[in-house]
Amino acid sequence: MSIRIIRTGNDPVLRQVAKPVPVINKGIEKLLDDMAETMYHADGVGLAAVQIGVMKRIAVVDVGEGLVELVNPNIIEKEGIQTGTEGCLSLPGLRGDVTRAQRIKVRATNRQGDSVEYVAMDLFARAIQHEIDHLDGILFIDYLQPSEIIHEQEQEFRS
Ligand code: ZN
Repeated sequence: MSIRIIRTGNDPVLRQVAKPVPVINKGIEKLLDDMAETMYHADGVGLAAVQIGVMKRIAVVDVGEGLVELVNPNIIEKEGIQTGTEGCLSLPGLRGDVTRAQRIKVRATNRQGDSVEYVAMDLFARAIQHEIDHLDGILFIDYLQPSEIIHEQEQEFRS
């Protein structure tokens, strides 16, 4: 496994639409491993392949209940609304309150190539929606007015 470089800021890959994965092979398994390692190293709760410059529809999520690997994920049901604070590994120093569905059902392929479904609520649902947005070139700040984006304070001095 290896830790990949996370693309940030105005990097154009963050605005591209990722392509479906036709088949799970060794390369995809290695990519899933690297994505999980990169996410944990960065202390994130989710990571999309586009964030490491790979334009494939793959995301990993772990909100503290174990690693979930999603290849070609699609949200097939959405219910309710929730509003909560989000940040993004690709937008360091920014955060803001985003309204999303409170409960979702997502269908994806796992690393064995099987079709799987997850019912996700609350933070788990939020993280999946955030990651699937990345696969379509969408960032959480797109839902916010400039005045709603919080810039974390710079340190005034370093000693
Ligand atoms: Zn993100």
